[in-house]
Order: sequence, then C-alpha cells, then structure tokens
Amino acid sequence: MRIFARKNHILINNMAQEDVFKKVVSHCKEYGFVFPSSEIYDGLGAVYDYGQNGVELKNNIKQYWWQSMVLMHENIVGIDSAIFMHPTIWKASGHVDAFNDPLIDNRDSKKRYRADVLIEDQIAKYDEKIEKEIAKAKKRFGDAFDEQKYRETSPRVQEELTKREALHERYSKAMNDMNLEELRQIILDEGIVCPISGTRNWTDVRQFNLMFKTEMGSTADGAFNIYLRPETAQGIFVNYLNVQKTGRMKIPFGIAQIGKAFRNEIVARQFIFRMREFEQMEMQFFIKPGTELDWFAKWKQTRMAWHQNLGFGAENYRFHDHEKLAHYANAATDIEFKLPFGYKEIEGIHSRTNFDLSQHEKFSGKNIKYFDPELGENYTPYVIETSIGVDRMFLSIMCHSYCEEKLENGETRVVLRLPAALAPIKCTVMPLVKKDGLPEKAREIIDELKFHFNCQYDEKDSIGKRYRRQDAIGTPYCVTVDFDTLQDDSVTIRFRDSMEQKRVKISELRGIIEDNVTITSLLKKLK
Ligand code: ATP
Repeated sequence: MRIFARKNHILINNMAQEDVFKKVVSHCKEYGFVFPSSEIYDGLGAVYDYGQNGVELKNNIKQYWWQSMVLMHENIVGIDSAIFMHPTIWKASGHVDAFNDPLIDNRDSKKRYRADVLIEDQIAKYDEKIEKEIAKAKKRFGDAFDEQKYRETSPRVQEELTKREALHERYSKAMNDMNLEELRQIILDEGIVCPISGTRNWTDVRQFNLMFKTEMGSTADGAFNIYLRPETAQGIFVNYLNVQKTGRMKIPFGIAQIGKAFRNEIVARQFIFRMREFEQMEMQFFIKPGTELDWFAKWKQTRMAWHQNLGFGAENYRFHDHEKLAHYANAATDIEFKLPFGYKEIEGIHSRTNFDLSQHEKFSGKNIKYFDPELGENYTPYVIETSIGVDRMFLSIMCHSYCEEKLENGETRVVLRLPAALAPIKCTVMPLVKKDGLPEKAREIIDELKFHFNCQYDEKDSIGKRYRRQDAIGTPYCVTVDFDTLQDDSVTIRFRDSMEQKRVKISELRGIIEDNVTITSLLKKLK
C-alpha cells in the first residue's frame, strides 16, 4: 500500500557548477567516501584514501566493469600482474623515452603547469564563446532557429571559429613535433596568463618524465632502478602468451586487469580527477592484423553502452576522437563525461597496432608470436585497448548523483541518487526506538538479509535524521521496525528517490530489494 509520496524540487540545477564541485568534494569527506591521504600530516599532493563508504562504491564500480568484461564475454579472461616489472619493459614500451609532459613555470606565482593543458584550456575558451553565441541566438529566434545555418553564417561565430582552428592547428603541429619553443610561443601569443599571479612571466617549456623510480635490491648486491608502473597494460602484454597457451585462447580474445598505476603528475588538480596514485581497469583485446578498425568501432560502442547503462543521461557523454595519435596507435578516442568543470576524459579506447608486442619481442629476444590454427601461420596480434580510470569514474558518478532538494515542508535534503547497484549500503534497518524488543527484531532482519546484500543497522537519533543520513550516502532502501512489527511481522520500507513509504511483510523484503541492487541487475540491462 502506498502511504505517501512527495514531489521534490531539485535545487542543484540552479547552482553554479564550481559550487556543485566544491560541495561534492566536501560531501565525499564528510560522509566517509574520500579523505586526503596523510591528512594529519597536512596531506600529500594528489594522493587520496577511500573511506568506509568510498571503498564500497569503488568496489561496486570495479565489479560492474569486471563482470561486464569477464562474465559477459566468453573470450575475455582476467589477470592480476605485479606492479614492479623488469625495467626493460618500460624501455620497450617507450615510457622511458617518451612518457613526458611539457611543463612550464610562472616565475611570479612559482606555480607549475602543463603547457599542453594551458593551450587546451584556451581552445576550450573559444569553444565556450561559440556555444554562448549560439545559445543567445537560439533564445532570440526561438523555434525558427536553424543552428547549422547560424554556425556557418554568423560573423561572430566565424571569427571565433577561425581563431580556434588556427590555434588548434598550430598546437597540434607543435605537439606532434614536440617543439617546446613553439609551445611557449603559443602561450605568449595567445596572452595566456597564470591563473594565480595573472602574469605572463613564463619560463621555458621543459620535458618531464612521469614515471616514479625506486631501487630494488641492496646496494651491495648491485641495486637497480625500477619503476612503479604508469599503466597496467604492459603487465597484460608480457603475459599474453602465457594466458593464450594455458587458457587455450583463440584470437580474438581479451585479457582484463584492474590495478594501481602511478604517475608523477605535474599539476595535481581537480580532486581525484588527476592523482599520482590511481587505479585503472584495462582490457587488451588481441586480434588478427587488418581487423583492428572494425574491432575499434565495436569496442567504442560496447564501452559507451556500459557507461550509458548507469542511467545518467546519454547527453552527458561524448566521444573525442584523437587527431594526435600516440606513437603506438592507429586510432584513438576518449569517452568524455560531463563534469562540473566541463566534458572530461574518463576512458580511452586505443587501437595500439602490434607495437607493444613487437617491441617486447625485440627487447626480450623471445618469440611471442601467435600461431593461428585456422590460417596455419604465425603472426603478432594487433590490439584494441579499453582503459578507464576507476577514480575518475567514481568522481563522475558522485557529481551526477549529488542532489539537493527542497521538500514540501521547506527543508532541504541532500540525496545521492546513486544507481542502486553501486550504492555502498543497500538497506538500513532501523528500530523506531532503542527498547522494547525493537532492536532485537531489527537485528533479526539484518541477520537474514546480510548474506544477500550490504545492510546497516542504525538506532541513533530520530527516524527523520536517520533517513537524511542514509539519503546522503545513497542508501536506496530504509526499513523501519515499529511496535506493529512485533505483532504482524510487517515493516515500513522507504524508497530513497521518491521518499515513498510502504508497509510490507518481512518475508517480502529480500524479494523487493535484491533484484534491484545486484550488479547482475545492471548487467542484464546491457544490450
Ligand atoms: P590525461 O590526458 O587526462 O592525462 P591520459 O590520456 O594520459 O589522461 P590514459 O593514459 O589514456 O590517460 O589512461 C587511461 C585512463 O586512466 C584515463 O582515461 C583516466 O580515466 C585514467 N587516468 C589517467 N591518468 C590519471 C590520473 N593521473 N589520475 C586518475 N586517473 C587517471
């Protein structure tokens, strides 16, 4: 029976996007999702710890990814390779020589920036101006507005577009040639200022390798330098033949891995968007040479469907195809998700050719070719990679789930509208009061449900306050045990998003909740 439902007014849409982001960051800390690392020692730049709710959400994201790869594809298997690897691997992969970012310092603020990011931000400013012009015109002309025509004919739009295109071309060439002087000149010519000091007092642009180095073995033994892996992919490449042979895999097949990666990022910005220690979920798909563009298109579509299946709205995602390709790729795209600071890369999909495997063959001197039983010949497989950052995915989910609502009674509630399958806690059971057998009854219910999904017990404060606490961490269901429960074995179940409350039998609880909160429920919706 439906007791009541209230219409909620969502406030957050009216809020400035920087404010939304600030709120999400402080919410993450206040509710045990993400803490700055080493906080009592004033933190460590761009390193974060996940708290009691954060770790559950993060694990659920990983489960969703892992199961969508390994359970849903009979030709994809997983591995877990070590973080430390033979240092020659990073020579072979190109990371020792080419995993660099161009950095530039502002002499007045003493702040360091990535030169490419400063220029890309400038390109984004032109894009914003163009979009603003179009939005204004749309308002002016109403239904009669022909956006395509306006883009092509408006002198203002054309002027900005020409500037943007010229900058883009100059920038792409400078990056392709890694012409550091030219990158600096672009920054000067565009009048780009340091956001802190507001000046153009820039140093030269220098190359900076992003890999962390450490030593293995004692010095007496002849210690040698090794690196903390900057991507998990190489662990897959150097194991691909082990997996292929022991798993009797036939091309096409994939290997998935989730694990930590480390990059000494020059500029640590935007919370967990750019970290120095982060986690990646990567899948390398091994294919016959010549089929790579078809597989690239297929994986683009498969991965986009995985994202959109979470229900945050297709309009919040877009592809960004790369014009400047990495040394190993012959096609590449990013899946970008709309964050409070713009559309940003969450995942990369790359057609990596046979570059990595050929390099490892060359540097190791071992034959790692695949024998194709159908063709009766050996070849070095081509690879399509899908690579997504767990932490960026986490951040985008938090940003899109965070919601402030004005209720009919004038109060505001903060609710995390997390997809139920990802929520840290699925159901909180609350005795109306802390006595008269109600706590015992509540624990009895948890003891039955806890084998099926993550439950919590909460008896502190008024029921209203307890609901707010659960809303704030995204718990989809709350169950209240009251005096009637002791007589008739029924409880009140309350739904997070609608705040609807229903009286149901205890025996019905598992059926109502379980189907909606499992990762399986998400996977079944994937086409
Ligand atoms: P960016 O251009 O933002 O530095 P990238 O193109 O170097 O990212 P990839 O090497 O393609 O990133 O890595 C794959 C994924 O790993 C990215 O899409 C992102 O989600 C994640 N990732 C990369 N660097 C970081 C980082 N410093 N912090 C958190 N996640 C990261």
